[in-house]
Amino acid sequence: MSLSFKKWRSFINESKLRVFDFDDTLVKSQSKIKITRPDGSTDELTPGEYAIEGEDPENEYDFSEFEEVIDPQEIEKVTNILRNVVNAGTDGREIVILTARRPISEDAIKNYLEEIEIDISRITFVLLGDADPLAKSDWIENKIKEGATDILFLDDSGKNVDAVLDLKQQYPDIKIDARQVKYAEELPEENPTKQVDPEIIDMIKEYVGLPIRAMYLYESDTIFARLEEAYDSKTMDEVYSYWKESNELHKLQQMGYNVRLVSREASIDEPNIPLTKDLL
Ligand SMILES: [Mg+2]
Repeated sequence: MSLSFKKWRSFINESKLRVFDFDDTLVKSQSKIKITRPDGSTDELTPGEYAIEGEDPENEYDFSEFEEVIDPQEIEKVTNILRNVVNAGTDGREIVILTARRPISEDAIKNYLEEIEIDISRITFVLLGDADPLAKSDWIENKIKEGATDILFLDDSGKNVDAVLDLKQQYPDIKIDARQVKYAEELPEENPTKQVDPEIIDMIKEYVGLPIRAMYLYESDTIFARLEEAYDSKTMDEVYSYWKESNELHKLQQMGYNVRLVSREASIDEPNIPLTKDLL
């Protein structure tokens, strides 16, 4: 009786579960796991390295940096999916942040998501305090038993994704879409020496005098300023030769920055970091 009722419910009332991991899925942060080995030597692991290596019972692990979200970089390809899901509403849909972090991190995670303007009132936060992939798949399995029929699971850890995909064998009627998202690797390494004072950015805007679309930092001292307008090469040569001789550029050079102007469409091949005030 109860089984057929459940089946009926799954046909009549689709129940969607949308599950997002936090670290390296929605955000890349500089929080590290500290290890102390039996011989007293120490090391640090990123969450990705930890997920691959697992724990050696001989070592001591310190997760205290995961009580906060340190120097976060948003992974927009995934936060935009979360935004779309949140905007689609919670009618017949539960949206969950499912993380191995311990419950002590909840406020830090919520604060971060609020900072990037995600409506956390529509999200359920589940902090397992357990990095075992089965901890996540067991949690999802319970949700299936409670009536979830359509599951999307996004996580950067292949082990977590595999554990969730394994549920398909037991629950062939449930729609399970579990995907490994590896976008954190595409983000530039954040290097503390690559910081530019926001005052310098304002100064460049003022000195250049032409509308600037974006600025990029290359190595520690070269800033590319991409202009809002697309200029032909002749005009760009004139702009550039004027800029090269200008007192303004010389002042910036004395402060340790070389500033290069590029037309809107010019390609910048070098690895670069978009400079926005929130990254600084
Ligand atoms: Mg992760």
